[in-house]
Parts: sequence; C-alpha cells; structure tokens
Amino acid sequence: MKNFDALVVGGGPAGSTTAIRLADGGARVLLVDKATFPRDKPCGGGITTRALAHCPVDPSPVVEEQVDLVELRFRFGDSVVREARSPVISMTQRRRLDAFLLDAARERGVEVREGTTIDAASAPADYVVGADGANGTTAKAFALGGGIVHGVAYEGNVPYGVVERDRYARRAVVELADIPGGYGWVFPKGDHVNVGVGAWQDEGPRIREHLARVCEAHHLDPAQLGSLRGHRLPLRRGATRLAGDRALLVGDAAGLIDPVSGDGMYECFVSSRLAADAILAGQLDAYPAALDAAVGRLHSASWKLKQALDRWPRASWRVARTQLLWRSVERLLLGDVAAPADVHGVARVPLRVLDALARFRVPQS
Ligand SMILES: Cc1cc2nc3c(=O)[nH]c(=O)nc-3n(C[C@H](O)[C@H](O)[C@H](O)COP(=O)(O)OP(=O)(O)OC[C@H]3O[C@@H](n4cnc5c(N)ncnc54)[C@H](O)[C@@H]3O)c2cc1C
Repeated sequence: MKNFDALVVGGGPAGSTTAIRLADGGARVLLVDKATFPRDKPCGGGITTRALAHCPVDPSPVVEEQVDLVELRFRFGDSVVREARSPVISMTQRRRLDAFLLDAARERGVEVREGTTIDAASAPADYVVGADGANGTTAKAFALGGGIVHGVAYEGNVPYGVVERDRYARRAVVELADIPGGYGWVFPKGDHVNVGVGAWQDEGPRIREHLARVCEAHHLDPAQLGSLRGHRLPLRRGATRLAGDRALLVGDAAGLIDPVSGDGMYECFVSSRLAADAILAGQLDAYPAALDAAVGRLHSASWKLKQALDRWPRASWRVARTQLLWRSVERLLLGDVAAPADVHGVARVPLRVLDALARFRVPQS
C-alpha cells in the first residue's frame, strides 16, 4: 500500500473538508468511509450563513431553500416571527451535501475509498484525522477524546401536499416545548419539511413522545413522517484530548456540537481548517488551543443559555422573544460576531439577563 501524508477516517462534512484543505496544501490524502455514498445522516441539514463562510466549497448546487424567517414558539402557544436582513440558514439534505463535498475532495486528488474500514493505528500515513462522527472509534484507538456528554435527536420527513408549502417556505420553526435539554424544529426543503426534536440522551425513551407533540402542533399524525431516524449529539463538556503525536479529532468525533442549537456543521468547517493547518505545519499540539480560541467562547455561552432554558423556561422565553435578543441572534447566525461576548451596548442586556438566569437557583430550604 502506498504511503500517504494523512489518513482521514470518515467522509462527513468534517472529514471531507479536512481532506480538501490538506490536498489544497499539497498533502497526499487517503479518506476512508465505511458507508457508500450517497448515504443519509440524521440531520436537520441547516447550514447557517456563519457556517457557510467557513466551508471551503460553495454548496449552492445542493441548497434547496434559503431561510430568512425564524419562527420561535413557546409550549405550542405564544410565538414570534423574525425576519432577517438576509438569509440566515441554507437548507440542504445531508445525503446530497456529503456526496457533493466528497466529490469535491476527489476532484482535488484525495484518494477516497467508500465502503471501507481501516486499522487507523497501523495505516501507512504520517497523520490520522478522526472524522468518524458521534460513534467513531478513532479517538479510542489513539487514546483521544473523553469529557463528552451526549444529547439525542430524532427526526423524519413529510412531503409538501401533506403539509402546505406556503406555511413553511423561507422559514425555520423552532419549538421550545418542555423538551429537556433541547427543542423541536420544522425545516423546509425542496419537496418536503424535516420535523425533529433534540434532547438530553436520557430523554431517549421519551423522544418519540416529544416528536409526536411537535407533530400534533403542526396538525400531523406521526405516522405521516417518513425516513424516521435518530442519532447522538456529542457535546464537549470537560477536558477532551483533541490531539496526540500523530492523530487529531474533528467535528462530532471531537464533541464539537453547539450545546444549545445542536448545530455541528459550523464546527466541522472550523475544526477542519485548524486541523489541516496543524498537520501541514507538522504541529498537532497547536490544534487544541487554536480550536478553543475559535469556538470556546461561543460554546461556553451556549452552555449557559442551555442552563437558563432548562431551569427557567418561561423567564428565558420572555427574553428570547424580544427584538433586542433577535438582533444578537441574527448577527450570530450571519457570522457578524463570533460569540455573544462580542455583542456590545444595549443589545447586550438580554444576554446578561439569560446569563443571570443560568446562574440563579432557588435556595433549598
Ligand atoms: C437529528 C440531527 C439534526 C441535526 N441538525 C443539524 C443542523 O440542522 N445543522 C447543523 O449544523 N448540524 C446539525 N446536526 C449536527 C450535524 O449533523 C453533525 O454535527 C455533523 O453531521 C457532524 O459531521 P461529522 O463529519 O463530524 O460526522 P458525520 O457526519 O457523522 O460523519 C462521520 C462519517 O464517518 C463514517 N465512519 C464512522 N465510523 C467509521 C469507521 N470506523 N471507518 C470509516 N468510516 C467511519 C460514517 O459512515 C460517516 O460518514 C444535527 C444532528 C442530528 C443528530
């Protein structure tokens, strides 16, 4: 077997974009994925505009809908609709996006082997990138990982005709509905909507009930959902070992999902850039600090917001529905600011209130 500069294990958005960046930097890259593409991956398929700016390939050919309306609803009652000044989310389907990015890697000279697994530790490559997602094994093989807690998400699709296209066009619906550690969503695609829920992993036994409640609120029988599927959401909580002598982790394998939104594609694209930079410079030990500098402040703010929503749902909702908070959310989704801490002036007030809610506990008598 010929030698490669880098082996990338996993061909999701984290793996394919790491491979693209390594190949662009002149490296000889082998990418293996146990699946054969196109393959599906449970995902809302929403790429925020912030994430888009970090994707090394323009995914427009596989974008099916642009979202500039965000509808937030509390306990299936009170709701608010905000219109962004430009699209904040590009909706795709992972079956299409992942095959598209993998083809782009191939076009840049990456050797892609589908339907293949490999013993990464003894592979003929100088460096190994663990991009094998939430259930990957590369982390363990290189004594990496750790410090990751899990959420779980469950979703399905409903064709237009069963639901009205006009109701969901250009719109992301977010349901804050007493789903511990998460929320429900309805996202528009080319010929269907994707309906899903995310929650703490221990809500697994009740995840179908949570999805059924979201369906009911949208006048759907859960039996009308096709392609039902679930997947884990890995969330980095403590100290995660992200790099060793010759291996590092990107995307979900590194536990990089945003704790409050459940999004992970922004983190895939950012971690792939930083991982490729570290490998091309031969300095893997620079990677963890670079990653923390890029996403650490965002994720620590997200943990606080998640705590506020979990502990004080109604009070958090009162803040979440304000125009002032929307201004910050819009800037975050567009990538104008990297983290809530970069928001200044009066727009910071609702963020401070959510911060206080996260810290406040009723004293035990
Ligand atoms: C229901 C749900 C909804 C979501 N919605 C959104 C959303 O709207 N927007 C957003 O930004 N994020 C969303 N996320 C998160 C997003 O899906 C993940 O962050 C993203 O898929 C991570 O990409 P990845 O490349 O790290 O891993 P994956 O996409 O999981 O890819 C890992 C790849 O590794 C391969 N693999 C695994 N083990 C091996 C092995 N041993 N050998 C070879 N190959 C292997 C797999 O076949 C797979 O192709 C959602 C997640 C879920 C579960």
